[in-house]
Formats: sequence, structure tokens, C-alpha cells
Amino acid sequence: MHIHDAPALALTAIAASYGNGKPALEEVSFTVAPGERAAIVGPNGAGKSTLFKVIVGLMPHTAGDVLVHGHSHHAGDCPSIGYVPQREAVDWSFPVTVMDVVMMGRVKEIGWLRRAGRADREAARAALEQVGMTPQAVRPIADLSGGQQQRVFIARALAQRADVLLLDEPFSGVDMEAQAAIFEILDHLREREVTVLLSTHDLQMATTRFDRLLLLNRRLLADGPAVSVLTPERLAAAYGGRLTVWRDGQPLTVTTDDCCP
Ligand code: ADP
Repeated sequence: MHIHDAPALALTAIAASYGNGKPALEEVSFTVAPGERAAIVGPNGAGKSTLFKVIVGLMPHTAGDVLVHGHSHHAGDCPSIGYVPQREAVDWSFPVTVMDVVMMGRVKEIGWLRRAGRADREAARAALEQVGMTPQAVRPIADLSGGQQQRVFIARALAQRADVLLLDEPFSGVDMEAQAAIFEILDHLREREVTVLLSTHDLQMATTRFDRLLLLNRRLLADGPAVSVLTPERLAAAYGGRLTVWRDGQPLTVTTDDCCP
């Protein structure tokens, strides 16, 4: 079981590559405490999705260690971790219902060759209830809105009894109402000590809704509260060029020249 006092997640000097000679991640180290909620920010191609795939074991790392509650885990085999991939990475034409998707979270408990039992169906129903998607249980997943699909994937992780949730760009392509619904779920999860690590390219939202930001661009450039992470120097180092961010309700335009004369 979980090692007492161990962080929910501990990454040490992680490196990963797609084998094209260009590392996707280098020397990435950080820890996330149980129940903490942190956002990974960085430009497109910074390695955010790659980092999640490494943590969940879908992609091998070439150096370093990933510990989940103090344990290393084998590829794809860590029930503590629930992974909600980017919507673009999912084949939505697959003919499955909402309930089918949530039941996939029970596969490890059921085993591939057994039929789902009452406890599995109960766990799936309870998870759907938690994300407010019970009325949609028998609808095809493809028919739902982007925000509803995200909620179903969160339910799948909860049915699996994951207590570390990785959400890759959960707000991309969803409206404000759906965003608020997802945050409401995340707030409930925080009360239950579920650890949440989420990636987003929306710096304003990350600043207003997260206590802790991790700024990634292949390497981890900064880690801490928004005010210390999103400095003009660091933003220019991560994004280069010109970028507008919101600071105290005012737009602040940062250019590489501001910081790197
Ligand atoms: P982000 O999620 O921050 O946009 P990614 O993790 O998707 O970044 O990508 C990190 C780097 O790895 C980028 O340079 C990207 O082009 C490269 N990359 C991502 N997926 C693949 C892949 N399947 N094959 C080769 N290179 C990839």
C-alpha cells in the first residue's frame, strides 16, 4: 500500500525521448503532496503530454525515477493513477456508452476474463454520480459535449479508485460552464485528498485557480506560486518572442527583449 509520509508523486531527473535525437524531457524533478492540486504550464511542444505518459507508464523514460506514493510501478500498472488524456488523443467513433467507459476503470479489479460483478457496477455508478453524469449513463460517449466527455473520463479514474489524477488539457475546447463543472468536481476531490496534476496552456486560468504552477519547456523552469513562476524573465525563457499575460487584472506584454538584452 502507500508508504506513510511519501509524496503522492515524486519525479527525479526524468528524461524521455521519441528517439529522434531531440529529448522531449530533460532532468525533470518535482514532488506533489497528497491532496495537492498543481498545474503544469508551458508552450506547445513543451513536453506536458509526454510527462503525463511517462508518469502513467505509457511511455518509457530514459533516465530518472517516478515514484507513486513511494513505490515505482510497472508500465501501465498503477491503479493509484487515473489518467484523463487530451480529447484529441481519444478515438470518439468507438461505439461505447458512457457506462462502458466508466466500467473500463474497473478492468484491473475485474480482470480481463471475468464478468463485472455487482461491486464493479456499484463503483461505476457511484463514480458517475460524483461527476453528475448519471442521466447520461446509457448514451454513446460520442454524443456528449467535450465537457461531459471529460467528466466521464474523470469518473472512469474514480471507478478505478485512483487517488492521483492526471488531466491533460481538460479545458481545451470546453465552454465556461463546463469548465466550472470540472472545477467543482476537482474541489470535491480535494476534500477527499485526491491529488490532481493538470496541464493547461491557459496561463490566466492557471494563475487564478491554482496555488502551484510548474513551468515546463523540456526542462522544469520554475515551480511555485504563480507570482514567482510567471515572471517576465521566466515567461520569455519558456515562450520566447512576445506574450501577453494578465497581472492584477491588467494585460502585461512580455517580449524576449525585456529580459534578455
Ligand atoms: P505538449 O503536450 O507540451 O504540447 P508534447 O509532450 O506533446 O508537448 O511534445 C513534446 C515534444 O515531443 C515535441 O517536440 C513534440 O513534437 C514531440 N513529440 C510528441 N509526440 C511525439 C511522437 N509521437 N513522436 C515524435 N515526437 C513527438
